[in-house]
Amino acid sequence: MSAVTNEPLPVLIIGAGISGLSLASLLEHRGIPFHIFDTLPRSHSQGYSITLRWWAFEPLLNALGVDEQDFRAAVATDVAVGGDGYLQIMLRDAHTGEKLPALQTNEGKLFRANRTELREFFVRRLSPDRVHFECELTDVILDGDSVTAVFSNGQMMKGRLLVAADGVRSTVRSKLEPEAEPVLLPATVYMGQRRVPTSEYNHELGGYVEGSNALVAVGNQCIIGLQVVKHTPETVDYSWMYSRPGFHGSSEKESTRTSVASSEEMVSAVTDVRLALAEPFKGLLSEDRIRNDALYHWPMRSLRVPRELVQKRIDSNVVFIGDAVHAMPIFAGEGGNHGLLDGVQLAESLKVGVEQNNIDDAVQSFYDDAYERWQKGVEDSEKRLNDMHQPIEVWRKLSEKKMAK
Ligand SMILES: Cc1cc2nc3c(=O)[nH]c(=O)nc-3n(C[C@H](O)[C@H](O)[C@H](O)COP(=O)(O)OP(=O)(O)OC[C@H]3O[C@@H](n4cnc5c(N)ncnc54)[C@H](O)[C@@H]3O)c2cc1C
Repeated sequence: MSAVTNEPLPVLIIGAGISGLSLASLLEHRGIPFHIFDTLPRSHSQGYSITLRWWAFEPLLNALGVDEQDFRAAVATDVAVGGDGYLQIMLRDAHTGEKLPALQTNEGKLFRANRTELREFFVRRLSPDRVHFECELTDVILDGDSVTAVFSNGQMMKGRLLVAADGVRSTVRSKLEPEAEPVLLPATVYMGQRRVPTSEYNHELGGYVEGSNALVAVGNQCIIGLQVVKHTPETVDYSWMYSRPGFHGSSEKESTRTSVASSEEMVSAVTDVRLALAEPFKGLLSEDRIRNDALYHWPMRSLRVPRELVQKRIDSNVVFIGDAVHAMPIFAGEGGNHGLLDGVQLAESLKVGVEQNNIDDAVQSFYDDAYERWQKGVEDSEKRLNDMHQPIEVWRKLSEKKMAK
């Protein structure tokens, strides 16, 4: 593997997830040489959707010169039925089914995007010879003025900067800063993925979702929700989730990895709670249906990397972005949005760094812009996660109090 000749050493981006692709699309746009690598094949389906927020997607679209309607038409979960990812986060009481309008949490402009389509939106904008799927980074060699990425197929590539965008279990981080580890938070999310005929979805859930691409209910120390992944005239793919406080398994150690759950385990995890639910949540968690779903449980993790650790790697030509440096719990977190914005901010800094031939200062200025945002993002998401699992009486009182105002 060799970089394109007659151009300066490229930026090497490890990880074609949200943060790496956001950065790559902007480097391509600005003509800054780069290569991006991912362990997985391009065809890998990501199987879930994500809430995109204005403070992340607007800077991206402005920098790329893409119109918001065109972006939504490319990535929204329900574009095949004429939608644009509309999201109304109308909380319901899971035990009565009633709406709790006072607790509505829609803030600013936001919509639901399909993760696979989002990746494709980015990859289509990249020169094919700069994107390398099925290419796993195994080591990083710090060369002084440059940096070399080593891959499992034995190939190597030298770059002027290596961007660790390889997610919460980052290989780059574990090689260079092994002491910076995610911490496990005492909450577990159980998730199922399901495909149903559109007529069945409309009949069973249409009256509750009211056109929104998600539905969320608060229960007694638990949250139950549904997120549309892909809505077409024929079928609707959606994921359901049930979250509760506490680690999965009998010990913290047991619950560190996301894993496929057996239907027995999932049925038994939701049986008690299901009995106390109103429709449509009771039906959502019905035993017969769960047995046909793809099932997972997700540990909730967060990661803070001390500033001095990221700072000292500037001299080694390595910069961290996305979940590799600031993971937030997937539920209640905004890690994907922060990842998008990281790509935008780093590309902006690198543009100046290339013009002034000073990449170190460019990375420094990126950290100056982004680091505080990451810390606040992680802190806020941990707090939201903690607040979500309250007794139902607390939720009801909160709703009444807000209604009375
Ligand atoms: C079910 C679910 C729902 C979520 N919902 C939301 C939401 O609504 N809003 C939100 O903001 N966030 C959400 N998130 C979180 C969001 O998806 C992550 O924060 C985001 O994907 C992080 O982006 P990233 O690019 O940093 O890392 P990732 O998306 O994890 O990408 C890292 C990439 O690096 C690759 N990689 C790893 N190791 C190597 C290696 N050694 N060599 C080469 N490649 C490698 C991986 O294959 C992967 O493609 C959700 C997450 C999940 C799982």
